[in-house]
Amino acid sequence: MKQIAIISGKGGTGKSSISAGFATLNWDVIIADCDVDAANLYLLFSPSVEEEQIYVAAHKAVIDYNICTGCGLCAEYCRFDAISYDKKKVIISEVSCDGCFLCSHVCPENAIRMIPNDKSRLYSGSFRFGKMVYGKLAPGEENSGKLVNMVRQKSIEVSEKNNIENIILDGPPGIGCPVISTITGTDMVIIVTEPTITGLSDMQRAVETVKKFDLPASVIINKSDLNPGMSSVIQKWCHDNNIKVAGILPFDKKMVESMVQGKSITEFEPENPISIQLKEIWNSIIND
Ligand code: SF4
Ligand code: SF4
Repeated sequence: MKQIAIISGKGGTGKSSISAGFATLNWDVIIADCDVDAANLYLLFSPSVEEEQIYVAAHKAVIDYNICTGCGLCAEYCRFDAISYDKKKVIISEVSCDGCFLCSHVCPENAIRMIPNDKSRLYSGSFRFGKMVYGKLAPGEENSGKLVNMVRQKSIEVSEKNNIENIILDGPPGIGCPVISTITGTDMVIIVTEPTITGLSDMQRAVETVKKFDLPASVIINKSDLNPGMSSVIQKWCHDNNIKVAGILPFDKKMVESMVQGKSITEFEPENPISIQLKEIWNSIIND
């Protein structure tokens, strides 16, 4: 089994379009959308849902005012300042509550219940080129790294059950906890960047993050011809830092057009130079 993570230091580089292009090259693959805060590949692939799991991101404290005596003890103990106490009435802020359970333990009246935040979901199913696993974190819910871990565990399970060798992990942008959950233990990380000053800086941060985990990394420069000078700067930086540039893709409106049509570029125009290059990159990855 080969797990290939595709990440970008910043949003808007075309990372998901490239992941989609790899996922539709007629190889049997599992595409795992690890961008659980803003999952969108399922919109493109419209997978059938074969399994749905509830993900409990955290718990929230709720007071039963029929039992509460207004003693204020819970407000004294809450380390997150989530409980306000005024005129013998306590109010818990849903936004500030971290779900630590402490107030429910200290309340002498047992007036506090911990309610699970259970609106987030993990899905697995099939799409037209293989299997798909994705998570959707409900608005305002936390612990996205944990949901990314679940997406990864499920994709391994699906891979073993269906004898599918390659898993493509479409990661979230940035370098935070959900990205680390996406890349740990993978076989290769591809960083998609664009030729801008922020693209360079965010790519450098992504490379640093990947290096910390001692993983092989390579870079794809997308929309390279929009700023050839900066594209050369990125190539030189990669060369000087021993990072392989796996591909240099031009800007092509067809990339956007394919998305509008609900297809990846490799499906929409298999003979497009971008599609041909993506095929070559993919072949070199899986035969590496
Ligand atoms: S500790 Fe319990 S009884 Fe006292 S104010 Fe808090 S919820 Fe009410
Ligand atoms: S669960 Fe923890 S964070 Fe939430 S209100 Fe109670 S003590 Fe505060």
